[in-house]
Amino acid sequence: MLNISEIFYSIQGETSYTGLPTIFVRLAKCNLRCNYCDTKYSYQSDIYKSINEILDEVKSFKPIKLVCITGGEPLLQNEVYALFNRLLQQNYHILLETNGSLLINKVPMQVIRIIDFKAPTSEMSDKNCWENINYLNPVDEVKFVLQNRADFLWAVKQVKQYNLTDKCKVLFSPVHNKLTYKQLANWILDVRMQIRLQLQLHKLISIR
Ligand code: SF4
Repeated sequence: MLNISEIFYSIQGETSYTGLPTIFVRLAKCNLRCNYCDTKYSYQSDIYKSINEILDEVKSFKPIKLVCITGGEPLLQNEVYALFNRLLQQNYHILLETNGSLLINKVPMQVIRIIDFKAPTSEMSDKNCWENINYLNPVDEVKFVLQNRADFLWAVKQVKQYNLTDKCKVLFSPVHNKLTYKQLANWILDVRMQIRLQLQLHKLISIR
């Protein structure tokens, strides 16, 4: 059984899949406590579902085949690997949103890994597992959520140090109400790197 926070259907608001209709499977529990967390409700849940029950719910949104496994932190529950395999067997396209603190080496190659490495102002940057960079594929994405100029400069330093733009897609996103899209866009333009500004589309259009 997997401990589930919620399963719902909406527009993907983040990643390079932004704007696409997506089925979200949000797993409960998180090992981090980022100070800007907007999904605190996922830390605890009384909902437990078998993989068959989850698949039935996912299938109810047919013919949509894009599934985002998110959290919380999905890799905390070992049974998530069985869920990946069952979804892949049924030809679903899977995005995994993970917080960067746990190794992704056992996640199947066909799953698109979106790693949210934590910047200093999140107060969780000491939990980043940089070894994950060794397991990235070009289709994977690394995301940095930033609150201020110091976070931005730190993230640029990591991108350069780990040569991330040659390894995967790189996304920078502002923390809602802390840093404006315009300010972050200007900083990204100034550094002239292959970094994509990520909007939180679901918040801009006030959809779940
Ligand atoms: S990793 Fe995600 S779910 Fe966990 S505390 Fe940070 S923002 Fe919240």
